Amino acid sequence: MQYLPIHFDTRGASILIVGGGPAAEAKLRTLLKTEATLIVVSEEISAEINRWAGQGKLQHVKRDFIADDLDGVSLVYAATEDDARNGEIADLASDRQIPANAADYKVACRFITPALVDRAPVIVSIGTGGTSPALARTLKSDLESRLPPETGHFANKTNTLRAKVKSILPDLADRQRFWASIFGGKDLKAQLSLSSADLETQVQAALDGKDSIAGKVLLVGAGPGNPDMLTTAARRALHAADVIVYDRLVSDGVMELGRREAEYIYVGKTPGEPSIGQAAINDILIEKASEGLSIVRLKSGDPLIFGRADEEIEALQAANIPVRVIPGITAAAAAAAAINASLTTRGTNKAISLLTGHDAKGFAEQDWSSLARPGGRAAVYMGVGAARFIQGRLMLHGAESDRPVTVVENASRPEQIITYTTLQNLPDDLIAAGIKGPAILLIGYAERRVENKKRVAI
Ligand code: SAH
Repeated sequence: MQYLPIHFDTRGASILIVGGGPAAEAKLRTLLKTEATLIVVSEEISAEINRWAGQGKLQHVKRDFIADDLDGVSLVYAATEDDARNGEIADLASDRQIPANAADYKVACRFITPALVDRAPVIVSIGTGGTSPALARTLKSDLESRLPPETGHFANKTNTLRAKVKSILPDLADRQRFWASIFGGKDLKAQLSLSSADLETQVQAALDGKDSIAGKVLLVGAGPGNPDMLTTAARRALHAADVIVYDRLVSDGVMELGRREAEYIYVGKTPGEPSIGQAAINDILIEKASEGLSIVRLKSGDPLIFGRADEEIEALQAANIPVRVIPGITAAAAAAAAINASLTTRGTNKAISLLTGHDAKGFAEQDWSSLARPGGRAAVYMGVGAARFIQGRLMLHGAESDRPVTVVENASRPEQIITYTTLQNLPDDLIAAGIKGPAILLIGYAERRVENKKRVAI
């Protein structure tokens, strides 16, 4: 991150703007909303700036810039209509350790001004590091439509209730959890538009019930990796969690969506390496929930497929801790989507098996004779290391050696790799393609070919 976004307190600060034309005027439109003393140095100024000067909103110094103008100022905007001049002024400011912005001259800028969504005191600033002002504007208008004008009032209203909440919940973590429960899991727009009275009622009701806030565990499906493939329920849960207990295959993009103040506990199991046991994971969930915390147990894909969810659910229920499941997109579904394949096809397969390549004893045995029959289709999880075993078993039971197999590694992620092969060539092609996983082997699924079809304009 080259640019650090910070919100600068302008009370008592002096800000120098050099220039009096369109560039200075554009900067001033934002700066006039601040509480800083604004000093405009320029021989000529526009009618608009002149009007602001007349209203006492800024001080106009009617002459060209001199270095002494920098004395005692906190920020400088070099906004003359001359890029080279702006660069010189910004350099002079930098020599004196005063942060400077040179209009339309990024290299000379110590800071750049973001696009703003102004719902003061709530301010959303959007920066693209100068790469795409048009994108910043698009994001701005998107956020404008999502944040109702009452957003600022809402922040002020919550501020008036903070002291009361603090007196009842002196512990900071308790308070953070409390406010997350007020904001999270709701329709944000409706919530931000609440009247003061309704907000107060809601806060009071939540405070009254705080003794009964028992810890709970949500088993949440993180999907195949691409954060776009999370459910809205999963996003909400991540936003409101106190503790996030997560697996190895949960992607960074999904982790980014977790509440920042949450406690993060990694409990990933790496194949072939000593890792945390299931009993220890169950204990962590029970211990944290017993403290009254809200836990998200984040598992890749769908939590109910090869995720040992039942063991966690049973342990939690035995400890009287409420547990609920938020499903996710399983890897097989993402892998099939990656190749536009229908997992079931009329006339080809009436069933699809979801298999694991490994179980507690090693390579997993399956009902090979039924899978080997013509039309047998399966999605194999954890199958890369077991590929030669699976190939051997299926062929031993009579499966055709040219049965198609498609391997999708890192389905839905930017690093996704698709390999089309056959049962015969599967183990060698996995090695040749350098597939290490996570990958799904789609047995009985071939590349979809579009033959001699006329192109249809869409
Ligand atoms: N609960 C998960 C499966 C966990 S088992 C789900 O529903 O998807 C772990 C296996 O899932 C991996 O070995 C791999 O076979 C598969 N897997 C997980 N994420 C994947 C991805 N993005 N692409 C391909 N396979 C994936």
